[in-house]
Parts: sequence; C-alpha cells; structure tokens
Amino acid sequence: MATKRDYYEVLGIDKKASTEDIKKAYRKLAKECHPDLHPNDAACEARFKEINEANEVLSDPEKRARYDQFGMDGPPMGGFGGFDASGFGGFESIFDQLFGGGMGQAQRRGGPRPGNDLRFNMRVTFEEAAFGVKKSFDFMRNEECETCHGSGAKEGTQPVTCATCKGTGQVRSSGGFMVTVRTCPTCQGTGQTVADPCTACSGSGRQRKKRTATVNVPAGIDDGQVIVMNGQGEPGTQGGPRGDLQIVISVTPHKLFVRDGTTLYLDMPITFTQAALGAALDIPTLQGKTSYKIPEGTQDGAKFRIKGEGIKQLHGAGRGDLVVRVKVEIPKRMNAKQKELLREFEKAATGKEYEGQKSFLDKVKASFRS
Ligand SMILES: [Zn+2]
Ligand SMILES: [Zn+2]
Repeated sequence: MATKRDYYEVLGIDKKASTEDIKKAYRKLAKECHPDLHPNDAACEARFKEINEANEVLSDPEKRARYDQFGMDGPPMGGFGGFDASGFGGFESIFDQLFGGGMGQAQRRGGPRPGNDLRFNMRVTFEEAAFGVKKSFDFMRNEECETCHGSGAKEGTQPVTCATCKGTGQVRSSGGFMVTVRTCPTCQGTGQTVADPCTACSGSGRQRKKRTATVNVPAGIDDGQVIVMNGQGEPGTQGGPRGDLQIVISVTPHKLFVRDGTTLYLDMPITFTQAALGAALDIPTLQGKTSYKIPEGTQDGAKFRIKGEGIKQLHGAGRGDLVVRVKVEIPKRMNAKQKELLREFEKAATGKEYEGQKSFLDKVKASFRS
C-alpha cells in the first residue's frame, strides 16, 4: 500500500481544527479539484480521493478520535469518502453537496459509473476479535434487474433517447450573466427514457436481492474498524465497477478484560496475606490461565506485565501484553482466632514493616518540632 499523507496535512488544517474548519477546508479543496472540472486528470482525481478520505475520517468525531490515537494503522476506515451506508451516495451526493446539484459525473451520459458502497454492521465477541473468526451473514443488495438487464424497458423494447435533453443528460438555461447547467428532469441525467417500463422492476432497472457473504474477520481487529470487501457492493452502471461492501465491526466488551490496542488490562483482587508474603497467582488469560509470582510486600494497585498474553497485532506477528493490576483486599468478618493472630502480629511489629506510615510519622514529627 502506498504511503498516505496525514489527513490534517491533506486538508491543510491544524490538529485542533473545529468541525466547521474541517467542513470549510474540505469544501474549498473539493471544489478546486473535483474531477468533473478536470476531466482525464489523474493527479487531480487522486487528490480528490485523498481529500474525500481525509474528510470522511476527520468530519466523523469517532473516526477522528481513532485516527488521532492510532493514525493510519489498522484496516482502512471506510473507503473513498462520502459513500454513505444508506446506499445513495458516490459522486452524486458529493457533487450535490458542493454545488447544490448539477453536472456531476453521475449525470453525465454514457460514462461508466461505479456502484454504491454498502455498509454492514457486524457484532463480534471479544474473543472473536482477539483470535479472528470466519462469519457468514445475509444482507440486501440492489442488483441489475434480471428481466430487463438494467435498462428498465419492457421486454422486447429499448430505451429511447430523451427528447428533453437530446440524450446529453443535461439542460442549460441562461439567466443574466450565468449559464446554468442542471440534470435533465425528464431522464434524471441518463439521457434515455423508457416508454414502456419493465414490469419486474417498474422501470428502475434494479431489484433488491438477499445475498450472503462470508468474511474472515482478522485476529486483532478492534471496535469500530472496518473491513472492506472490494467489489461486493452494488453494481455499477454502463460498465462501471461494483461498489464495495464495508463491514463495520463492533466488539462486545469482556467481563474481565479491558483492551487498549493490543494491550489487555485485568484488575485482580488478592488477599492481604498474599500481598504481604508474596504468592504464585493463577492469572486468567484470554486463552486459559498463567502463573505469576508476586513478590513479598506487593502494594495495592501494583501492576505486573505478562508478556505476550495480550491481543495479536492486526498486521503483524507480534502480540501485546497483559497488564495485571492487583487490588489488595482487607479481610472482613474474621473470627476470634483470626483477630487474635492479627493482634499477635501487630505486637511483634518493629516499625520497619510500613514504609509509608514511617515516613508520614517522620514528617509529622518534623513539622511539630519547629
Ligand atoms: Zn427490469
Ligand atoms: Zn434527458
């Protein structure tokens, strides 16, 4: 994969830019290098894609936070900007946003037009995200109508050239200084009209179909990350490529572990005698358990790092660590014998056992001496 520029740099804005700043910067740049204004300019098209991608991430608070934290790491956070989950999107909506409707690529007659991207929300368990899983799922997708093969015309008939725009897909009107070009209202920019609509699809050329897809969710994927299945979206028109199917992952939280990237965190209660004497602890891990020896005099809140018991790196062979934080538990509801033993213990104290208390008492003494 080619190296990508920083999204903030792409939009020429500061890391602290407000949502409004981002919107402004995006609109300005996207207008400047919209491919419809620079046909057949590959550099310009690449730049346009880059701008859209940056905008898609930075204009979404969740994605932006993720990007600020992890940068470009992880799977792509959704493809080329603006292709919304809702299924209507692509160049059309970007262009309409910018120019309030007009001569978007979508409306240009004859040119291939890519299909819409689809978005599917998939829930996986904590373990599935950690170790990877293969999952099949059903989703609805618009397909080319089988009866009319997408033309929208009734069997045995063909679409005809639109009389309003003479097949250009655009109508021009001049008023004052301006010549306005807008999408032909008769044919919605296709340049063709259907006299006798196909009965199977009511002339739309599309049919909604249930589809099944299988995805390999890679080990190490995290909540909110997106898996892109290229070419699994809706079909393009006029020979345009299919859109993509984007699978947005949400990970169910674990009862014991909290995850931050590849690091796992575990809070574990230990007894005050274990803390004082040291102990070999049975530490639960995602895969079972492991033994870990804590030293004598372990303090409440002490953290231990167990190498390699965290989450696998999404793109790499490495594995994160498990960080265990111990919580020393003071006994409650002791019986008479236990209390007696503790009193005995206290009597045997030399004063060197408790560093914190000793230093506190020294400070108290010092402050009252002066
Ligand atoms: Zn049809
Ligand atoms: Zn027309």
